[in-house]
Amino acid sequence: MPELPEVETVARGLAGAWEGRRFVAVTCRRAGLRQPFPPDFAARLTGRTVEQVGRRAKYLVVRLEGGLIMLGHLGMSGRMVISGLRNTPPGRHDHVEFVTDRSVVVTLTDPRRFGLLTLCDAAGLAAHPLLAGLGPEPLDPAFDARVLAAALAGKATPIKSALLDQRVVAGLGNIYVCESLFRCGVSPLRDAGALTPAEIARLVEAIKAVLAEAIAAGGSSLRDHVRPDGELGYFQHNFKVYGRTGQPCSGPCPGAPGCGGIVRIVQSGRSTFYCAERQV
Ligand SMILES: [Zn+2]
Repeated sequence: MPELPEVETVARGLAGAWEGRRFVAVTCRRAGLRQPFPPDFAARLTGRTVEQVGRRAKYLVVRLEGGLIMLGHLGMSGRMVISGLRNTPPGRHDHVEFVTDRSVVVTLTDPRRFGLLTLCDAAGLAAHPLLAGLGPEPLDPAFDARVLAAALAGKATPIKSALLDQRVVAGLGNIYVCESLFRCGVSPLRDAGALTPAEIARLVEAIKAVLAEAIAAGGSSLRDHVRPDGELGYFQHNFKVYGRTGQPCSGPCPGAPGCGGIVRIVQSGRSTFYCAERQV
């Protein structure tokens, strides 16, 4: 499931293909994905020029001329694939296709169909139901230790779960929460409201660093972003704990009695990966 860095990478890839370009054809091959496409979705986009492609949390925000916004979410399995015009028939999971005036084709492929594409007016963007309740952007300078401390104050839930709450901070998912907690040495099991100011400051720094490194890795994959398959957003990234059950820990602790490598536990039905020695 794509998290903030993957969505940022997709947004940057789409920006290169779309900004300043006009959609000459938009084709929807089904009535919707997670929810129906808006009425006249394709007709409202066709003929319009894209001004800017950005991101809010895990949503793609595509600004078009005339104050129209296309909001997108990749769901569980959505992928944006860039290609040239093709003569081959679309695949069975190729649900939406955008063609620009430069004959660049972007195809939304989504086998599980939890993705989402909708339209709104720029004036209504901040209050849109999908965005209105979201917390701060973690890479925004306004997201600092004071802001996170206020959001965590009094919370008896584990810090792991609190960071997955999109109202606390927007865009983090299971992978980057695990990586951030490992980086700053805070146990995922700690009560969110019991972290010290110093721990919260380290956590904020860790979140920003982990995301920035992942975006940089995505950016380097974008340099050749028309990969053989043209797919945007997924890239090779070396995680320190995520998915590394039983593997050696890269913290300062190997050899310490409590460091048995990376362990996996389940919190609120989701896997958590951490080192019980490094993270206290
Ligand atoms: Zn360790």
